[in-house]
Amino acid sequence: MPRMSTDTRPGSARGREAGNERSPESGPESRPARSLARSAERAPTSWGLGDGQAIPWDYAPAPESRDVVTLKERYGLFIGGREVEASDGGTFVSVNPATEEPLAVVARATGADIDRAVAAARRAQRRSWGTLPGRERAKYLFRIARLLQERSREFAVLESMDGGKPIKESRDVDVPLAAAHFWYYAGWADKLEYAFPGRVAKPLGVAAQIIPWNFPLLMLAWKIAPALAAGNTVVLKPASTTPLSALLFADVCRQADLPPGVVNIVPGPGEIGMHLVTHPGVDKVAFTGSTEVGKKIARGVAGSDKGLTLELGGKAANIVFDDAPLDQAVEGIVNGIYFNQGEVCCAGSRLLVQESIQGPLVEKLKDRLATIRVGDPLDKNTDVGAINSKQQLEKITELVAAGTAEGAEIYQPACDLPDRGYFFRPTLFTGVAQSHRIAREEIFGPVLSVLTFRTPEEAIEKANNTPYGLSAGVWTDKGSRILSMVRRLKAGVVWANTFNRFDPTSPFGGYKESGFGREGGMHGLHAYVRLEDR
Ligand code: NDP
Repeated sequence: MPRMSTDTRPGSARGREAGNERSPESGPESRPARSLARSAERAPTSWGLGDGQAIPWDYAPAPESRDVVTLKERYGLFIGGREVEASDGGTFVSVNPATEEPLAVVARATGADIDRAVAAARRAQRRSWGTLPGRERAKYLFRIARLLQERSREFAVLESMDGGKPIKESRDVDVPLAAAHFWYYAGWADKLEYAFPGRVAKPLGVAAQIIPWNFPLLMLAWKIAPALAAGNTVVLKPASTTPLSALLFADVCRQADLPPGVVNIVPGPGEIGMHLVTHPGVDKVAFTGSTEVGKKIARGVAGSDKGLTLELGGKAANIVFDDAPLDQAVEGIVNGIYFNQGEVCCAGSRLLVQESIQGPLVEKLKDRLATIRVGDPLDKNTDVGAINSKQQLEKITELVAAGTAEGAEIYQPACDLPDRGYFFRPTLFTGVAQSHRIAREEIFGPVLSVLTFRTPEEAIEKANNTPYGLSAGVWTDKGSRILSMVRRLKAGVVWANTFNRFDPTSPFGGYKESGFGREGGMHGLHAYVRLEDR
């Protein structure tokens, strides 16, 4: 996963922008002003700007072209290989969160549409997909992977427009990783006997898949690729704020000549998601989203013999010991929490710092935050784009207000936010207690809470003191300490001296209220097969 770019030059112009909120500890002279003064002291006269003048360090706008995407005014549902209207003609509008402008009108599936989609998936599973040899399924998956790569720019721009994420992330992370998942699972499609030696792997049948808005295309790939590789067919419901990349993927399915009904895409509200997962024609349910909805889904499928995978929320601890390489750790912390505006289930939202290095680490972090560029998601220089929706922005704002009210100290770097759209400044809280809401609840925004510890035992105690258990990070120079921490951390994924790295070969999933089951790797394949004796 690429890191956010670093503007380490002195006197960053961003730090000089007006209207800054000052942190309580920034004192009468703000940090940017101090940094400008420092840079002025260092400015050589050979710059030719006169005494005490620093070189201006503004980035010129570098917008990615919108023209690579042809937005349709209206998108239908994708059922049985065809684009169709909702049975009641209902629609909803998908909005660009960076501009608040409507992007497209999208058909809103009804219960009858879900019935149609499940029936189409069932037919395809029985008649075409389920009977194809693995090597033939593999060809389709390879074809889809190649098409995603060929159309990567189009997907990246659409993903950024519909979801608000910076183009450099959709371009360098979401789309390549989505293609990588299809490449990877294409490789398994004709090798199931090696994935599960001594057993016969049979598909489960029809998979109902519900995905969230933070990584729409990537979550689609995490779910569809292993399901298809194992011989299942799917009905997928994208989130209502980000349906467009899934609908563009429908176009890829057509281009790849995928048999009709193998993939069905049904945008619609949450209730439709519940109708889908409780549908008697569904054999397997895979959900990524909030713990609250995950629990409802678990109740909805309880008592049936449906397979269930839940990938839910998180409140990851990113633990930094006093022997860690601090500059490297700062980059990992920034990537851990400000990547994708912090709208990441495995975000390192709780920073646990060994007490002796809290001062220098927080100082470095604040300096680094001043270089983060917030703004137009389609600008290639943007580090932090738009929050996905008005509701999500309100949730973040409410939790940040609770952090201040409960006594934590807030720091936000100086930066202008665009006049329109849903934007939030990168935020850092120090003086956070474990009881504070910002230390307990999933904020799902660019907000970092800093807590301290003295001993490894205290770090473990605090890291595990959460109902979640999705991910964690450990920063230290000592390999033995990493191994000892990893064993005791109750988290599905633990990164050591890095954060937010993903690979299709590696399983991902949680403990406790972060859900169960694994996606990615052979574990992800396992969730879509029934193993029988030879
Ligand atoms: P949700 O869990 O509501 O949304 C995730 C998906 O589930 C969407 O496709 C949504 O559809 C669908 N859904 C909603 N209600 C139901 C239901 N009753 N039955 C079946 N499917 C349903 O997340 P929110 O968008 O409401 O976000 C709320 C919070 O959840 C965030 O602030 C964040 O903390 C957390 N979250 C965690 C994610 C993760 O990756 N772990 C991802 C997204 C959110 P629709 O969009 O139409 O409502």
